[in-house]
This record gives sequence, C-alpha cells and structure tokens, in this order.
Amino acid sequence: MPYRDTWASCRQCGRQFVFTVEEQRRLAGLGFELTPPDLCPDCLRAHEMTPGPHQGIVKWYDPEKGYGFIIQRSGSEIFFHRSGLAPGTPETIPDKTRVRYRIQPTGRGPQAVDVALEK
Ligand SMILES: [Zn+2]
Repeated sequence: MPYRDTWASCRQCGRQFVFTVEEQRRLAGLGFELTPPDLCPDCLRAHEMTPGPHQGIVKWYDPEKGYGFIIQRSGSEIFFHRSGLAPGTPETIPDKTRVRYRIQPTGRGPQAVDVALEK
C-alpha cells in the first residue's frame, strides 16, 4: 500500500486531522499496524494515560537489568519492570515485539503492567 496523506476524524472530539505520510512511515518503521488512527494526536496522548489495555512496541527489554521500555503509538515511551510482565511471559523479549499492556500510575510516573506478547 503506497503511503499518502489521509484524512481521519477523531472519535473522541470529532476533529478532522491528517494521517500524514511521515506519520505512516514512522509507525510502520516501529512495527505498528497501519490502521488509520481513530483518535487525533491530542486525544491519543490523553488516551494513552488511561488504564488500557493498550498496544505498543517493545523498544528494548534487558532481562539482566529487569526492565525496559515500550513505545506507544503517539511515540511516547513507557517504563516497564520485570514484575509488570504478565504471568507466563518469557523474559527474552526481542526489540520491536508487539505487546499488550495496562497503565498503572506509580510514585515515579506511569508504568506498564500486565505486559503480554501480542499473538
Ligand atoms: Zn480528538
């Protein structure tokens, strides 16, 4: 599918916005599915702070350190700790693995928990 600017409308605020070629390339490069967004960038950022569940891409996870980071669709990154892995999730998680997770606020900012590999 060739990249081209596409209009989309936000299901939350109703705003029309452009799903740009640059944005499509960025998402594809990270490994996200290229579905047209149903939230505008502002509503997406707000949504990503809700408990979820959400889908994201593992930037990296270091089993020795016991933590890593998930890239959210907006591009923001979220910390996750070994203790936030869902039961049965292997500790060897390659970069760019697609995961599903929930957001939990902590004293040190939001953290991803119930992190499970996307089937
Ligand atoms: Zn919106």
